[in-house]
Amino acid sequence: MSVNQQAHTGPPYGQAQPGYQGYQQPGYGGQPLPGIPHSQYGAYNGPMPGYQQPVPPQGYFPSLGFPSKGSPVSLNSDTSSLAPNFIGLLRAPPTSGAPPPASGASLPSGHPVYSQFGQGDVQNGIPASAAQMHRPPASQPFLPGSAPTPVSQTSTFQQYGPPPGSAQQLSNQMAGMTIGSTSTPAPPPAGLGYGPPTSVPPVSGSFSATGSGLYTPYTSGQGPPPTSVSQGLPLAQPPFSGQPISTQRLPTQVPGFAPPPSSTGIGPSSYPPTTGAPRPSPMQGPPLPGQTVAGPPTSQPNHVSSPPPPSTMSGPHPGPSPMAGLHGPPPPTHPPQPGYQMQQNGSFGQARGPQPNYGGAYPGTPNYGSQPGPPPPPKRLDPDSIPSPIQVIEDDRSNRGSEPFVTGVRGQVPPLVTTNFLVKDQGNASPRYIRCTSYNIPCTSDMAKQSQVPLAAVIKPLATLPPEETLPYLVDHGESGPVRCNRCKAYMCPFMQFIEGGRRFQCCFCSCVTEVPPHYFQHLDHTGKRVDFYDRPELSLGSYEFLATVDYCKNNKFPSPPAFIFMIDVSYNAVKSGLVRLICEELKSLLDYLPREGNMEESAIRVGFVTYNKVLHFYNVKSSLAQPQMMVVSDVADMFVPLLDGFLVNVNESRTVIASLLDQIPEMFADTRETETVFAPVIQAGLEALKAAECAGKLFIFHTSLPIAEAPGKLKNRDDKKLINTDKEKTLFQPQTSFYNNLAKDCVAQGCCVDLFIFPNQYLDVATLGVVTYQTGGSIYKYAYFQLETDQDRFLNDLRRDVQKEVGFDAVMRVRTSTGIRATDFFGAFYMSNTTDVEMAGLDCDKTITVEFKHDDKLSEDSGALLQCALLYTSCAGQRRLRIHNLSLNCCTQLADLYRNCETDTLINYLAKYAYRGVLNSPVKTVRDALINQCAQILACYRKNCASPSSAGQLILPECMKLLPVYLNCVLKSDVLQPGPEVTTDDRAYIRQLVTSMDVAETNVFFYPRLLPLTKADVDNDSLPAAIRNSEERLSKGDIYLLENGLNIFVWVGVNVQQGLIQNLFGVSSFSQISNTLSTLPVLENPFSKKVRSVVDMLQVQRSRYMKLIIVKQEDKLEMLFKHFLVEDKSLSGGASYVDFLCHMHKEIRQLLS
Ligand SMILES: [Zn+2]
Repeated sequence: MSVNQQAHTGPPYGQAQPGYQGYQQPGYGGQPLPGIPHSQYGAYNGPMPGYQQPVPPQGYFPSLGFPSKGSPVSLNSDTSSLAPNFIGLLRAPPTSGAPPPASGASLPSGHPVYSQFGQGDVQNGIPASAAQMHRPPASQPFLPGSAPTPVSQTSTFQQYGPPPGSAQQLSNQMAGMTIGSTSTPAPPPAGLGYGPPTSVPPVSGSFSATGSGLYTPYTSGQGPPPTSVSQGLPLAQPPFSGQPISTQRLPTQVPGFAPPPSSTGIGPSSYPPTTGAPRPSPMQGPPLPGQTVAGPPTSQPNHVSSPPPPSTMSGPHPGPSPMAGLHGPPPPTHPPQPGYQMQQNGSFGQARGPQPNYGGAYPGTPNYGSQPGPPPPPKRLDPDSIPSPIQVIEDDRSNRGSEPFVTGVRGQVPPLVTTNFLVKDQGNASPRYIRCTSYNIPCTSDMAKQSQVPLAAVIKPLATLPPEETLPYLVDHGESGPVRCNRCKAYMCPFMQFIEGGRRFQCCFCSCVTEVPPHYFQHLDHTGKRVDFYDRPELSLGSYEFLATVDYCKNNKFPSPPAFIFMIDVSYNAVKSGLVRLICEELKSLLDYLPREGNMEESAIRVGFVTYNKVLHFYNVKSSLAQPQMMVVSDVADMFVPLLDGFLVNVNESRTVIASLLDQIPEMFADTRETETVFAPVIQAGLEALKAAECAGKLFIFHTSLPIAEAPGKLKNRDDKKLINTDKEKTLFQPQTSFYNNLAKDCVAQGCCVDLFIFPNQYLDVATLGVVTYQTGGSIYKYAYFQLETDQDRFLNDLRRDVQKEVGFDAVMRVRTSTGIRATDFFGAFYMSNTTDVEMAGLDCDKTITVEFKHDDKLSEDSGALLQCALLYTSCAGQRRLRIHNLSLNCCTQLADLYRNCETDTLINYLAKYAYRGVLNSPVKTVRDALINQCAQILACYRKNCASPSSAGQLILPECMKLLPVYLNCVLKSDVLQPGPEVTTDDRAYIRQLVTSMDVAETNVFFYPRLLPLTKADVDNDSLPAAIRNSEERLSKGDIYLLENGLNIFVWVGVNVQQGLIQNLFGVSSFSQISNTLSTLPVLENPFSKKVRSVVDMLQVQRSRYMKLIIVKQEDKLEMLFKHFLVEDKSLSGGASYVDFLCHMHKEIRQLLS
């Protein structure tokens, strides 16, 4: 089953509910995005013509009565259920006092908006309006003085010219053969790689008023490989120059490289066990009697480049030979060359260390010993001769990191996500918002099917931008709302064609012609372009926002500002671990950092508090009270909110009462013996509170145990690891009851987003508890076996970021496409009630939605293909907006063009999400096989149609996809698809949910972690040491390494590390004294300690979650955990090594081709 063929339209949990009553969406708005940095708008001084933001309705204030339930009585009458230590706060619910100040309601005054009004009279808007357009002084990459630089697009395009023509491709392909040379480029300057310090945002930890940019340095953006050139990569050693041998052998060989049985063992689904053992040995040719297995690695040719190649080596570069790659027959052996060792590590400029002393200790280590004389046996692939992720990343950095990426060119492949680069919007959305699997899509569905390359876009609508880049402008089209196509409702964008002197415009998506509203009319210049082209973001930029009118609001009423409700588990475990006290302490200060509109004095967000175990306790924290009041609801079967007035309050107004409450909560429950909890009623309570207040909002739930107390949504412990690898394994990923699906639907309808912080000491059923979070666009944070000392920093950092980050509420996203393709499938944390609208109660700046496209007609090379993602959302101040992102792609009639313009990182992001959804319905083995098959088809299609003729025994990979095998293998070996014995069911469900919302940068580092040799770090500057490949054989016993994957940071210490380094880093005098329970590195005053801590801080800042720090000593128990992340090696759970997997892929491809 090929991935492409399965069109799932439903949400991951498959509960698209047709009957779902969403709110009315007049004319369906676009989709707004949350994370816009509001501050920027301020600088944009547009007149606020006529548009008066109506005061948001004050939802609940007027209604004094209790909600329908009527029995307010239960509150007080229930005193028995109060905790013994109840402090006597209990009082009758206050009868509505004076309506609380409508603080939240007022909009930021003078919220400057981009409006055409006021400029209308200006014929040539540029001068007059230009000034208005300019945004914040700070970021002015473009639009210096006048509107978005009228730079002639043509000139800009040149910077990143389209990929070389096909002719070149071929030649490159030839060049590519010398894999060795490509893989052994000069060592990149140390530190060049990872972002220069400048790009790195301030270390987290401290609060920042606006969450934007704080934690997400732009390094996270990724780009695809620069060149679209496809290269044939001979995986195996290129034949030695001048030796025609290789070519001749071609036909004969069987599965290319690995002659020995070991390779054969690789079944389609099971990889050969070979790797476990010293990898090299199997590969070696005929074992000579008496000969030690550890012969010199055969591969020489590729390496040649580094050290002075011995005369024999000379060959690789020249010509034809390159094809030799995967030939079965062993190439003539060459005496090991001196210098070879250096190449092993040297190729990437890093530590050369490992080899020498590492010898036999590590299984994977090939024999570095020099084995003179005897012809090297056919050897297996030399790890250094196969495509290296590190090399690709470094090459992209050096090739594309220095120039800004200008988006004016259609179908341009952006730099990789691992490259630091600036983006200039000249008509297409930044790759920080949208990345595609391919920027050149086949004109016909037949071609698309033939290639099996999925056509998908990974969209992060509210992505945080680096400070140097310009935030989307807010445009106001007045009371009639944004100008849109009459038929398909696409929003005005740079690709609309104005005709008839500017009186009408033709839609670039559906071709329908629409009248230009009188207030929007403008003359055209001699090229047919509106003279105000550069004055209007929606005509000249790829991303911008529109102010939404009341037609885009629920019930045709402008929204109220959202609310945050903190719901704290106060059962025994939560109290005993110190968690309750910790949360309460933190909230006292954190509440001052709620998100706010850029120019507002204070956040418009109101807050409320609930605690719970088997019953729920609501708190009245109205500012006029001297003390908070508690109301207990013990009837959890039919949840209602016992008070309206005083439950959701403004932080500043109720500061004293809130502080008092937060002081009292830990005391009130200090002696609790209640161990049982409820869960669904907690969400219901939050939902009811938001309903009563008529606003959207977010619930922050802090929960510790499986909810077994009698109540709706009660769960059983149904964990059963015996189900792994059976047909029933999928049930572990499915919720155990549909109750939560229905609850999620209600939450989405209200705009109630649920963020869940869990602290389990045992199975907690993340697959079920996470349903509401997942479908409302929320986040889950998991702290297993939470301990104050070791986990509090991580938890608090996560909580701070989560509370402060940019988020849009009540969001709906739709992706429109030009004729010929359409969005058919969606992946992410959201809910869908129909096949086109992605609904999210909340969407934050870290969440992505992946959209797959299918053909429904032919495309043309001339017109290309267009995407328009529109997100309708409510800002944190309660303003309704639309964020629009446009992207134009090329279309091709030649498959080679498709393969030249793909982005593997994005492809992997899509494939991982596809596979992770697949486990809900199919056995994981089926899912893995389908992935392998699809990728084999992708590569076989390339080989058959695009690569130059060559030996069948040679593996040829398109340049842009040369990392597809290694990355795919990482996905296949991941905990969800192939769990090791230590992985829990909850871990798998958790990771499955996380990955589903990850952007491309996150999946990239999650599946192929970053491994940095700390001992190679330059303590004199801020750079990061150059990364090395994730394999044990790259490690040296004498060095210290850091590995990060976005969730964890490991610091691995070799047994032979110099005592001085250990002293400097850990403050202890010997290896044996290093504690592996440290959760932070000691703060020591020496350059090495400072350097390492700054590296850790830099990495923490780049990720959306605070990573857990784990110290691993070589040969210690924890090392098994660490080795799990050395993804190029064979894994304990049976995952193949990179080399073995590559052999396997090659075999699969050959089978498809034969
Ligand atoms: Zn249209």
